[in-house]
Amino acid sequence: MEWQRDAVSSCSSEEFVKEASEVTNFLEEVEKCRRTCSAEERELSVPGDKYPEVVFLGTGSALPMKIRNVSGTLVNISPSQSLLLDCGEGTFGQLCRHYGDDVDDALSKISTVFISHLHADHHTGLIKLLYQRQRALASLGRPFSPIYLVAPAQIMAWLGQYHDYCEEILSHFNHIPNRFLCDDAEVSKPKTHSFIQAMLKKNNLEEFRTCGVRHCKNAFACSFVHQSGWKLAFSGDTMPCDAFVNIGKNATLLIHEATLEDELEEEAVEKRHSTTSQAIGIGMKMNADFIMLNHFSQRYAKIPLFSEDFSDKVGISFDHMKICFRDFKILPKLIPALKTLFAEELEEMEERREKRELRNPRGSSNEVISEQKMFRRSEVERGAKRDQEEEEETVMHSIDTKRLKTS
Ligand SMILES: [Zn+2]
Ligand SMILES: [Zn+2]
Repeated sequence: MEWQRDAVSSCSSEEFVKEASEVTNFLEEVEKCRRTCSAEERELSVPGDKYPEVVFLGTGSALPMKIRNVSGTLVNISPSQSLLLDCGEGTFGQLCRHYGDDVDDALSKISTVFISHLHADHHTGLIKLLYQRQRALASLGRPFSPIYLVAPAQIMAWLGQYHDYCEEILSHFNHIPNRFLCDDAEVSKPKTHSFIQAMLKKNNLEEFRTCGVRHCKNAFACSFVHQSGWKLAFSGDTMPCDAFVNIGKNATLLIHEATLEDELEEEAVEKRHSTTSQAIGIGMKMNADFIMLNHFSQRYAKIPLFSEDFSDKVGISFDHMKICFRDFKILPKLIPALKTLFAEELEEMEERREKRELRNPRGSSNEVISEQKMFRRSEVERGAKRDQEEEEETVMHSIDTKRLKTS
């Protein structure tokens, strides 16, 4: 398909709803879900707290796509305080789409941004966000104050170069290098120490911890505990990682990447990501109350493949989904309706998986695996869509690395 640069995208929610309601059995499933949820609500009759509220702004990996943008998760800690977890390209656009006319108010509340690592799908929306936040504060007549940027130290090469050759940016943030929030880290600089204390105070947090994870160099996960007792853990990108289990112990909510389906474990190792069941397994080890999966490969843009490990503690995220802790009971109940809505896509993915299984039975020899890799290569040559995305991811990551290296 040819790239139409001048094409104007339009989105009509009525059309989406109409299309969905025409899917066989979908409305029945929604009705069933509604009935069980409202019966349970009556039974519990606990309204629950509205905060923290988690808004998924980008739940896809590698490249921004129509259905899932790249990484960005807003945590509204209180009505006046927000923290952003990763800021991929297009995060500001997603905020505009989510908050509409109230976007300036939403921007003005962001006091802290955590960047897990320097792959482009996790940080290239930051500069735009910083400028837009400054504009929003001015237009609301609120005083400007820099954000707390909790990010790998290497981000300064990029921001410093941008500051020197493009526009002033350094006054927009106070940088806290991720490694200074690792357990046993010694914070020798008084300035960093005071930024950490001020960041905790601003967000009413008791602690904010990071740990190195198994992804690329200088990749981190984080966890933080609010004064009221809740704890949130965020994986960034990683293979299953014990250090993360440790800092996320007993989290109220774990947000974990689940880039690939279970049958692609080998590919997950190659790309240093997690599969769906690995992500759920980490949540279980962590003893998390609830696990939200995100960062899906764009090959699962509409819906990821479900695994047998799904339980009443697991939910899947979509862009613009907004949840608070009282929703944990409802989220798993949405799954039958989602399976009905995306039945066609799921069937296609299952077929693809079966074909792959036939080509590469489990426990096959290295010879067969390398033969399969050759087969995959020829698929790429034919422009097979699913592998193309991963190729693009690799290219993008290497461009990103080059840029950072030269800066
Ligand atoms: Zn990523
Ligand atoms: Zn990454």
